[in-house]
Amino acid sequence: MQTALGPGATRRLLKRLRDMMAAAGSAQQRLDRIVKIIAADLIAEVCSVYVMRAGQVLELFATEGLNQDAVHKTRLRVGEGIVGEIAQSARTLALSDAQSHPNFAYRPETGEDIYHSMLGVPILRAGRTLGVLALQNRTFREYTEEEAETLQTVAMVLAELVAGGELVNPEEMLRIEDVGLGSTERLDGLKLNDGIAIGTVVLHQPRISVRQMVADDPQAELKRLRDAMSGMRVDIDRIFETSGLSEGDERWQILETYRMFAEDRGWLQRISERIETGLTAEAAVQKVQEDNRARLSQTTDPYLRERVDDFDDLANRLLRHLSGDRTAADAADLPDDTVLVARNIGPAELLEYDRRKLKGVVLEEGSPTAHVSIIAHALDIPMVGRVPGLLGRVESGDAIVVDGISGQTILRPRDDVRETFAQAIRQRDALRAGYEAIRKLPAVTRDGTPVSLNMNAGLVIDVDHLADSGADGIGLYRTEIPFMIRSSMPDVVEQTDLYRRILDRADGRPVVFRTLDIGGDKLLPYMEHVAQENPAMGFRAIRLTLDRPAILREQVRGLLRAAGGRRLDLMFPMISEVAEFDAARELVEIEIARERKRGRTLPEPIHIGTMLEVPSLYWQLPQLLKRVDFLSVGSNDLLQFLFACDRGNPELADRYDALSPPVLRFMRAIASECDAAGVALTLCGDIASRPLEAMALIGVGFRRLSMPFPAIGPVKAMVRSLELSPLAKYLDELTKLADHSVRKKLLSFARDHNIPV
Ligand code: PEP
Ligand code: MG
Repeated sequence: MQTALGPGATRRLLKRLRDMMAAAGSAQQRLDRIVKIIAADLIAEVCSVYVMRAGQVLELFATEGLNQDAVHKTRLRVGEGIVGEIAQSARTLALSDAQSHPNFAYRPETGEDIYHSMLGVPILRAGRTLGVLALQNRTFREYTEEEAETLQTVAMVLAELVAGGELVNPEEMLRIEDVGLGSTERLDGLKLNDGIAIGTVVLHQPRISVRQMVADDPQAELKRLRDAMSGMRVDIDRIFETSGLSEGDERWQILETYRMFAEDRGWLQRISERIETGLTAEAAVQKVQEDNRARLSQTTDPYLRERVDDFDDLANRLLRHLSGDRTAADAADLPDDTVLVARNIGPAELLEYDRRKLKGVVLEEGSPTAHVSIIAHALDIPMVGRVPGLLGRVESGDAIVVDGISGQTILRPRDDVRETFAQAIRQRDALRAGYEAIRKLPAVTRDGTPVSLNMNAGLVIDVDHLADSGADGIGLYRTEIPFMIRSSMPDVVEQTDLYRRILDRADGRPVVFRTLDIGGDKLLPYMEHVAQENPAMGFRAIRLTLDRPAILREQVRGLLRAAGGRRLDLMFPMISEVAEFDAARELVEIEIARERKRGRTLPEPIHIGTMLEVPSLYWQLPQLLKRVDFLSVGSNDLLQFLFACDRGNPELADRYDALSPPVLRFMRAIASECDAAGVALTLCGDIASRPLEAMALIGVGFRRLSMPFPAIGPVKAMVRSLELSPLAKYLDELTKLADHSVRKKLLSFARDHNIPV
């Protein structure tokens, strides 16, 4: 392996392996010959194959170079030694000095002490680790990426032999694969969309097993690839046609972005290159998919990381075209209580399922900002993600509970567990019915103080929840969301159309449009971005749009046109100083003058305000309040800057409490300054959605809150049971304390006063 193997050499090696696998003799005899061929071809002194046995143990099954006596004797647990680490992480390891690796586990019976360098790759099939293939050399060798690539390709081919059932009997294989099947299991994950569902598992991806790995005729395979590609494109066009979506709908935009990926030339190119090395089209797609995953899942760029899902979606679709397999979505007999289980699912794939039968989704991967999560949110389907090892633990037809509130998934729940969740669903339904009963009643405290409850939105379809939630209006419309799910920057005409549809649907209720909060971790696929060390505190939001005023001006132009003849509420994100507000406002004035000059009908009235998310702005309130029509506290960012505590870091999630003396004092001070200046004040961060926090905010002077729509009912129920004056007095006491948190005290107050929180 002194020189990297070219495609021709790899092709020859794969062909020999395939012939060897099809040759006569027992599987063990074939494996013994195969390790010899690999060692010779890749110029390694050692080539060993470890195979996974029941109990998560890796057993040395064949070796060229190590002592033959060690075969079937040397065993390592998953996670033990370098081989165990490769199996556990399912990643390739290339070590020039393996013996000094902290995980090196010396096994004297192998005689491996003379070999210093090691290159090991997992033997994977359908996402499961079946074993490890390792090379060793005496010298301190630096293995190249090409060498690792070749070995991975060889491992793919070997996986067929290992999975064939001759080396380890099929029953034991099943036990390895289906760890813990049969009993109730509770798995922790990440909440991706609220709600609880009890249902029947439908595996989204009937596992597509690539049966044929090596091909004789690359030209024929390339043609198959091209045919499958065009079939896939036709398929995507069909989704567009049958989706019933119109061009302005966000779900259409998501599909459009997805179609853009399907046209990605680099992707096609890489698959073709793998075919040139002798793989079948299916095996090449799978290999490139695995490479993509390995590469992209390690990047810290959230945008790129999420694109893994889109590529997975496409790769699976392509494989289905190549293999003729169908997806679960096509099945006519989908259960009425379908809970989809998948490693990941693309947005287009989710939209293919019958919404009436789809009750929940559980993913082994997934992320809150991925396209598919946005779709689940819009369809109101409970969803949990990041459940490691999920697919190895379920079978189609299993009973399952998805708890999108706590982020848990319960497989094959016992009757009592199932009943507990059924009860929780009934309770939620009853609560919803209770909220429904107060939907049209005002949010007024028992002592007569009205509180305006508004909803946050980001998609046009969110606006429909204005009516069913009983919200007074939209207190925060995050305009960046439609930008994030498109494949190109919307122009003024498109933006005008979008904002007009939002206002039309809001039907006279106020909508506060926040100008673009992009940059940081909210990246647009079509805009260049550079990595920033502290993205939340970096080049984002108003900083970005003031530096690129054309973006802001076009957005404002769209808003002015959409709201012509009616009310417009506009605010800026991340304003840190009055001068920034003035500069942003000036751009708005320029646009107003421009529209006026052209004789267009302007909105009337126009309210211009700002978010308060950066603490420095608080000390400029006297000057700021003279200039703004309203102020909206963005507690998500404000709290992260107050405590210097990253809002996205789960390890710090419970470190500081919003219900603490410093925060409450700060909020009270903001509220009283706005009150004195007669400027409307809202709080639109996540804390407004929790009844206890909302209660405290009202207690320190807030009279307008904005939150995700499902929270309106619970917060309104709290408001209607609240007696404000004793709470305000109690808070006066609490804010003087030096406590880390006053949550428990506020909770007791709520209980003592029969306030549902
Ligand atoms: C906030 O920071 O509280 C806020 C509402 O803005 P976003 O969550 O979009 O940053
Ligand atoms: Mg913010």
